[in-house]
Amino acid sequence: MRLQNKVAVITGAARGIGRGAAELFCREGATVIIWDVLDEGENTVQTLRDQGFRCEFNHVSTTDVPGIEAAARDVYDRYGRIDILVNNAGITRDKTLLKMSFDEWQQVIDVNLTGVFNCTKVVAPYMVEQRYGRIICTSSINGVHGAFGQTNYAAAKAGIIGMVRSWAKELGPKGITANVVAPGFIQTAMTDAMPDEVRNQAVATIPVRRIGKPEDIAFAYLFLASDEASFVNGHVLAVNGGQAL
Ligand code: NAP
Repeated sequence: MRLQNKVAVITGAARGIGRGAAELFCREGATVIIWDVLDEGENTVQTLRDQGFRCEFNHVSTTDVPGIEAAARDVYDRYGRIDILVNNAGITRDKTLLKMSFDEWQQVIDVNLTGVFNCTKVVAPYMVEQRYGRIICTSSINGVHGAFGQTNYAAAKAGIIGMVRSWAKELGPKGITANVVAPGFIQTAMTDAMPDEVRNQAVATIPVRRIGKPEDIAFAYLFLASDEASFVNGHVLAVNGGQAL
């Protein structure tokens, strides 16, 4: 029960990695609030509630600042705190530079970079008020190393690292840590969309010879959200089976 009495907001947790994190955080004693644009979040929450966990779904887009402000105020008014923010929501609109439209660039920047700024900008003042907070942001192996067909995604995911390191310096003195998890190749709807051949080729480059599971990333989120990680700040934790070596 490493998150007992903690209140955690996880974005993009209707499915995939975020859902895995919501389940794990609930098992560790947290009250979990999911902010997602996908109505599947209702089913996710119902499944967790059926197991006796405290979990809520709020239809919030990380691009909608008034919506985030209302949702954060609601959490704070009812629970009196927001201990953990996991900025996990993300999208892909993959194209090579020569084929990528300005709109595809902007959509990914809006969700994957500005969305992370929006949620943190709104939630951080509550954390400052309570002199405690854990901010965890989801980057990607492709934000560190770049990737064919992902100019927009790699730029946003690299930008997250710069933002988080700035927050680590600004917010550290106020009792708040900010860290990044950079997943490798994880089995979710995002990667299920890839052709089998491409997926098999990718797995062959991973030293542990398997695709990651949402739980693999959820455990990294859990560590960074826990009190054991209170001296870890501004770190980029790669969770990729050694793929980048
Ligand atoms: P996923 O299965 O697609 O889940 C992401 C969730 O976020 C979806 O429910 C999605 O809804 C939601 N979402 C999208 N835009 C949103 C917004 N503006 N506001 C709120 N929710 C929004 O993705 P995943 O694979 O679990 O990925 C989770 C995070 O890990 C992402 O940041 C991703 O970039 C990162 N990541 C994933 C991998 C991987 O291999 N899977 C690798 C590296 C990093 P919609 O379905 O409607 O978009």
